[in-house]
Order: sequence, then C-alpha cells, then structure tokens
Amino acid sequence: MRETGARVQITHHHINRPPVPHKHPRPDCPFCSIIDDGAPATIVHEWHDALAIKPRGGGCTDGHLLVLPRVHVADFTTDPVVSATVQLRAAELAQELGGQWNYLTSRGPDATQTVFHGHLVPRTAGDTLALPWTRPTREQEPIR
Ligand SMILES: [Zn+2]
Repeated sequence: MRETGARVQITHHHINRPPVPHKHPRPDCPFCSIIDDGAPATIVHEWHDALAIKPRGGGCTDGHLLVLPRVHVADFTTDPVVSATVQLRAAELAQELGGQWNYLTSRGPDATQTVFHGHLVPRTAGDTLALPWTRPTREQEPIR
C-alpha cells in the first residue's frame, strides 16, 4: 500500500503478550481432553480455533451447545482474544442454525463457572428456562 502512496501504520496490539499455548498444560480439564486427546464428545462444528459440542447429559434444552476454545484459559477474563473468538464462533453458529438463542459465559464458582466455555442455548416461547434474571425480593436475598 505504501508503494501506491497510501499512508499505512501497523499496530501489533498483542506483540508484548506471551504466545498462546497450543496444548493445554492441565490434563485434568475435560474440554482439553476432548480437544487434545480425543476424549469422546458429540462434536457439532469445528473451527481451527474452536469447537462446538453437545453437553454431556443433553444440556438444559434440546440444541444446547458448548463452544470451546482450542486453547485453555481459566475464564473469559484471562485472554480477551480467546473469549472474543469463542463468542465469534458462537455467533457464526447461531446465525447458521437460525432461531433465537442465549449466549452465556461465566467467571468464578459463584457465577457457576468451572472451565471456560460459551453456552449457546436455543430459546422458544414457553420453554420455561429461568431467564431473564430477576432480582430477588428483600426476603429472598442471602444474608451476608
Ligand atoms: Zn482446558
């Protein structure tokens, strides 16, 4: 582009970050055992950087999917690029499949997180899933 006279400035936003490991260093992670070691899973879609599987036990509705990055991160705050990649793949898949969805992820055990992944949950009228969240009344709030 410079040869054509265009002004070009290149910024490498992640140049000072460590390289993303291709192998997950923790063999106790169930998702990494699927991705790295071929543990059994019902794979719905594969990308070079992510995988979509059906949750064991079927999930909370028919069609519930988990989107996993191919690299292990502790949670969605660990590496925003990995988190964005998982959401990108979830969005592509939901667009391809059509319909209405919740996309959810969590950080920390109080937020029901174990291993990082994104949930794609298909929604239909009257499916009785408990969203949207509602703030508990004063009587229901836990005592701290
Ligand atoms: Zn893992």
